[in-house]
Amino acid sequence: MSLRRFLEKMEAEKEVLHVKDEVSTRFEIPFIMKKNDDEGPILIFEKIKNYKTKVVTNVCGTRRRICAALNVHENKLYQRLVEAWRSPRKPKIVKDGAVKDVVEEPDLSKIPVLKHFERDAGRYVTSAVIYAKGVDGNVENVSIHRLQVLDKNRLAIRLVPRHLFKLWQTAKEVGRDLDVSVSIGVHPVLMLAASSPVPFGVNEFGVANSLMDGGLRLVECENVDAYAPAEAELVLEGKISATKEVVEGPFVDVTGTYDVERRQPVVDVVGVMHREDHVYQALLSSGAEHRLLMGLPHEVLIWNSVSKVVSKVNAVNLSIGGCGWLHAVISIEKQLEGDGKNALSASFAAHPSLKHAVVVDSDIDVHNVSEVEWAIATRFQADEDLVIIKNVRGSTLDSSADQETGLTTKVGVDATRPLAKPEDRFERARIPAGRRAEELAHKLLGL
Ligand code: MN
Repeated sequence: MSLRRFLEKMEAEKEVLHVKDEVSTRFEIPFIMKKNDDEGPILIFEKIKNYKTKVVTNVCGTRRRICAALNVHENKLYQRLVEAWRSPRKPKIVKDGAVKDVVEEPDLSKIPVLKHFERDAGRYVTSAVIYAKGVDGNVENVSIHRLQVLDKNRLAIRLVPRHLFKLWQTAKEVGRDLDVSVSIGVHPVLMLAASSPVPFGVNEFGVANSLMDGGLRLVECENVDAYAPAEAELVLEGKISATKEVVEGPFVDVTGTYDVERRQPVVDVVGVMHREDHVYQALLSSGAEHRLLMGLPHEVLIWNSVSKVVSKVNAVNLSIGGCGWLHAVISIEKQLEGDGKNALSASFAAHPSLKHAVVVDSDIDVHNVSEVEWAIATRFQADEDLVIIKNVRGSTLDSSADQETGLTTKVGVDATRPLAKPEDRFERARIPAGRRAEELAHKLLGL
């Protein structure tokens, strides 16, 4: 289960566009990535100015492709993820793999790392899946972190106070650097597993292996005590320093605004492994891919939580416009008056970063912004259906939250049909033209 096998599959489904013109890693590729952001294809840049390596982008840029990678229908996606989170499977460790085609001394200047946005502090690796083992050897963790290129063999890593941060702190307390493998160019399932909110102690490689039905193979690194996917395109072997820190940032975060400068640890890169003809995977920070990878696993949490308070949840969308993080649309099967508001409170409880939530009936497509707006326009009365929660903890990424306390205001919109009023007033008018018209429309308009 490798990135290139997935790319071959996507190639067959006409989801890949090859760019043959020469492009620069400095702003040019990110600019094209941004233009391609709305449901665009996977892009493979074949000719990179000053580099030999090709660049692939937007691999997980649509829900359709993420479902294709998991080999699952969209309406079974959440169940599939929940099952894998609950039952990780230990991946098989193998002696050799394609990633060991070339084992060499580190030289980060040979890798076509992008400079994305105007005020970014430098070139950033944004698609890296990072594995580390705790110093006691018991806990293994895999997560995605941004890495700023400092020079030929040093990176700065942004460690949000979560699992990898905890492993690094523990190593630091006993005066040890933390060994890591930094894998770039892996199967989308690994990206999704690494983005999943599983508890500390759950090895996300095990989650990925469960999603791959036991198909994940890992190799041991050459220079550090870490495992990496045997079929990755490129692996940097690193040590997160116990002593060395640098100023990291600014860099654009998922909201599309600049994250501030902070002191963050240095990663000393001590070895590199890659496939003979490896491609470098890039990911546009704040792009649809970034938002989907962060948001989609949290939709599962909302779905789970809301399912406990209403009879059925049809779909959840942490929308791209809401940064895949701050806005949710939830469609439910409403049975009783009040279901909408209960769904709102359950969703805020499930995803504490959530700021604005809209609940709609099952006839509304949560992914269609116009339909959601229509539901608000025709089914919502602010004096009855609006919920405001003041002074609560929300997302640290919300620029408008109180700077000192971090507190924010949350809004819930219950745009479900009021059951007490006549149903036909809220009916969405249909045109019953039948199968032939559907086929004609598809032929003429591709819709
Ligand atoms: Mn973890």
